[in-house]
Amino acid sequence: HVSMRVRGMEMASKDCVKVAVRVRPFNKRERDAGSRCIISMTSNNISIQDPRNPQNSRTFTFDFTYWSLSGFSRNKDGLFASVFLDLGQGIHDNALQGYNATLLAYGQTGSGKSYSMVGYGANKGLIPTLCERLFQSIKSMQDSRQCQVFFSMLEIYNEQVVDLLSKTSRSAGGLRVREDQQRGFYVEGLRRVPCDSAAQVEQLMEQGTRTRTTVATHMNANSSRSHMLIVIQLKQIFSKECITKQSNIYLVDLAGSERQRSSGSEADRLKEGTAINLSLTTLGNVISALADMALGKKVVHIPYRDSVLTKLLQSALGGNSRTVMIATLSAADICYEESLSTLRYAERWVEFLPKKSHLVI
Ligand code: ADP
Ligand code: MG
Repeated sequence: HVSMRVRGMEMASKDCVKVAVRVRPFNKRERDAGSRCIISMTSNNISIQDPRNPQNSRTFTFDFTYWSLSGFSRNKDGLFASVFLDLGQGIHDNALQGYNATLLAYGQTGSGKSYSMVGYGANKGLIPTLCERLFQSIKSMQDSRQCQVFFSMLEIYNEQVVDLLSKTSRSAGGLRVREDQQRGFYVEGLRRVPCDSAAQVEQLMEQGTRTRTTVATHMNANSSRSHMLIVIQLKQIFSKECITKQSNIYLVDLAGSERQRSSGSEADRLKEGTAINLSLTTLGNVISALADMALGKKVVHIPYRDSVLTKLLQSALGGNSRTVMIATLSAADICYEESLSTLRYAERWVEFLPKKSHLVI
């Protein structure tokens, strides 16, 4: 049985990177504090006002902006359906064509990263919705291809990898990231669970989330400081043509982007802060380098190797891969500094696109 990996056709460059911003409703703390809204939106533009100096406002342009302050949002289901259509559908379609993809959520703790990626209760997020669609498509396929789906879930904390589907990996001191010519970077010994339904994926996600909380308690750490990464691997076997297509979808709920304040010792705080910022900073640097490349500048080096997160995402950032970033924030005046910093970080991703109209006004 001869098998061959197919890379597929070139994707239009405008489809390679999409950046979305989602604003969540005020929480109780913000309502109780009588917070003022400092965000306004017109189509793809989002403006943020400095609460201490209202003349000082900045406008950013993104591919998509979602306003979900209560009283302003459309019907909840309708709104989410459009979020999935904008951000998830393309990843689904490309995966079936054999492309890799990355979907990341970036933002301050409590701004809606997990709400957008995973969801809470009846409000399903992008990951379970994507899995539902994927299994639906597989079921309704007309041709003779055979599909296999594998699920992995891990956490990166202080540059250490913990398998969230294994009960033993935390005591083993984390898993090693290795590199080989064919696979690129991979996590040695990471569990890869074959799945045949979205319900099974949801169960595994629940299991992983429970382990994440236990690990955090055990290490006396805060899970908002770790990156959660889900890998969905889709293998399609076309026996007649003797072709195998494999695509990896990386779904990343990043650590909270706020500057780290820790209750631990000074040494712990420094180690933790540096390691977390290392992955977020390196991710930003990788994107900047890819942006320069897309703009035709000469780039000698893309610093994938500088952090665990970027090592693992190497095969799914840039090139023929689709990258989607959802930046989440609060519209409250008390979150001004963090929200502005989130918009600035997201802005670097937009520059990844070689499109003048997407540069900031
Ligand atoms: P993060 O993962 O960024 O720390 P969460 O996703 O846990 O934050 O969100 C914090 C709280 O805000 C949760 O209670 C969640 O239900 C609520 N929330 C976040 N985003 C939205 C949204 N777009 N619409 C309604 N509620 C939201
Ligand atoms: Mg979260």
